[in-house]
Order: sequence, then structure tokens, then C-alpha cells
Amino acid sequence: MPDPVLALDLGGTKIRAALVHGAGADDAARPAPPRLDRVAEVPTPATVGPAAILGAAAELAEQVRAGAQVQAVGLSSAGVIDSDRGRVSHATDSLTGWAGTDLLTPLADRFGVPVSALNDVHAHGLGEARFGAGRDRASLLLVAVGTGIGGCHVLDGRAVLGSHGAAGHVGHMPVPEAEGVPCPCGRMGHLEGLASGPGILQLASRLGADPALTGGRALAAAANAGDTAAREAYRIAGLATGRVIGALLNVLDPEVVALTGGVHGAGAPWRDAVNAGIAQEAMDVVAATPVLPASAGEHAALLGAAARALDDLAAPVATLP
Ligand SMILES: [Zn+2]
Repeated sequence: MPDPVLALDLGGTKIRAALVHGAGADDAARPAPPRLDRVAEVPTPATVGPAAILGAAAELAEQVRAGAQVQAVGLSSAGVIDSDRGRVSHATDSLTGWAGTDLLTPLADRFGVPVSALNDVHAHGLGEARFGAGRDRASLLLVAVGTGIGGCHVLDGRAVLGSHGAAGHVGHMPVPEAEGVPCPCGRMGHLEGLASGPGILQLASRLGADPALTGGRALAAAANAGDTAAREAYRIAGLATGRVIGALLNVLDPEVVALTGGVHGAGAPWRDAVNAGIAQEAMDVVAATPVLPASAGEHAALLGAAARALDDLAAPVATLP
């Protein structure tokens, strides 16, 4: 049996690591899903700086490896990642000083094996395409609606990264419902400002929801129990999200769409509106595209990071300077 991949998922609040067995392109054709061993996590020292963040990740990875032989390190990271150079090219301030960080050299020096890096949503999309809702399908569009709104188009087994590593920023499409609403990217009127988890809480507040409903779970429970303002917030946000997904079906024509993220857990008040939005915008030829819950599990990004590392081992790309 081949050695596992040491996979890392580096996010704004936590870092996860695991040994991943069986995440190669050939493994995706087998009925058994990849196996994750020794899954562990630590809080991200997000405000201390890149050296401390990478140091914490390497320390956790060392504990997880525990002397085992590994083929490669696969890293999934927050931020826009230049995968060819293994660098963070752009990042929000959720990780202080993260932009410009070299992700490859410190990990390659420490572990002595090739290192591959992907943006976390791209890693999630690749994991979902190979081992979840996209299994046995030629293409998948992942849409993740949580603290932010992101996405990933996976085509013929490869995550589409774009020329800047920025492809898939589904939350930064304009929607009429978001007119006048600021977006975290600094623009106005984008989907994410209106329809992310924090956006929906603010929308509910503007619609007169009970001020005690300060978290997503409480708001979702109220909506499911029939609270008018909470239901209306999910309806407006879900409709806008569905319209964007419908438009993306027209542009990308994926074989399947997978939905994930905390807002997806809100249930029918949101999901019914998403379906209505898709129906409103999708052209007839793509309107019946299956829209499924993501099914690769909570470690999909680790699976995707491991899969990319194995792809790179099989067909190495010359690392650019
Ligand atoms: Zn935006």
C-alpha cells in the first residue's frame, strides 16, 4: 500500500492535519473512500504573523506524522494561493500578514517531501468532486455559503484556479437584492454582503427580527418555527444565491452542483428559496442540473489537498521562481 499524504488545512480559526490514504485519481474509481488517520486540530495563531502560523501548522503536522513515511505534503490554505509558486498572493486580515507568505519552503525543508498548496475552497471543491457529490461525474460546481460565500468549478478532475488563483469567488457577483449593501471585499452590492451567514443576520435585523437572535443557529431555528422576519431574511438571501447559481449554470454548465457551508444547514426556508432562484435564472437546457448537498464530509478540504499533492507527484509542474 502506498504511503499516505500528510494533509493540512489552514484556516482563520483552526488548523487541521491528518494522514490521508487512498486519495489519488485512480483511488476515486474504487468503492472505498479515502481513509483519514490521526485527524488533529489546533487553534490558528491568526494575529501573530505568518512564521507563527506556519510553525503551528508544521508542529501539528509533525505530531500527526509521528515518524510515519509520507509521500508528500498537501496544504489547503485560506487566502488566494498561487499554486505554481506555492505562495499566498492575496489574503484578508483574518490571518495577519499572510499575503506574500512562502508556503512551500518551510514545509519542504522540514518534511523532506514535495509540498503542494491550494486555496481552501479549491481544495474543498476538489475533494468533493473526487470523493463526494461529484464522484463519477466529469464536472462539479461547489458553492459554499457560510461566513463568506465561495465556490469552485472542477472540470475533468482539476480544480479551475484561474490565472490569478482567484477563480470561484461566487460571493462577489452583483445581485439586485444587495444594492447598497457593502461587501467584505470593499465593493458594494455583491452577493456575499447580503447572503453570507453574517449578511443574513444583518438582513434579518433590518427586517425587524428579534434582536435576541444574534447567531445563525438561533435565526435558522426561528425561521423554521415560522418567525416572519427570519423567514423573509432566508427567503431574500436564498433567492439571490439561487439566482447566482442559476446564472453560473448558464455559464459553466457543470454536471452537478454541491451545496455546503453553515447557511446550507438552515434548511427549507433557505433551500426552497435557492431552488426558486435557480429556476428563475437557469436556461431550460441546464435547469434540471442536480443540486445536491455536499457529501465528502467535514474533511473534504484535507481530501482535496491530498488529491492535489498526488496529482502533482504524478505530473509535476515546474515550480516557477
Ligand atoms: Zn465582494
